[in-house]
Amino acid sequence: MKVSIDQTKCVACGSCVAICPEVFEMKDDGTVDVKAELKGKDIPTELESKAREAHDMCPATAIVIEE
Ligand code: SF4
Repeated sequence: MKVSIDQTKCVACGSCVAICPEVFEMKDDGTVDVKAELKGKDIPTELESKAREAHDMCPATAIVIEE
């Protein structure tokens, strides 16, 4: 399962970082993105449910999940 953030939609609310800090991070410039080491890669299986929760809770539907 791969995860990405549509930067044209993200409002940098920080919800995904609070729910799943293993996958999402707040950058120094205030934007939120998938951690560099996980970008474009399959995330660890044990993080999938938390990443899905972050996806479901995102107020801007900015989190994209690819199975
Ligand atoms: S929850 Fe959605 S809108 Fe909020 S920081 Fe994460 S991706 Fe952006």
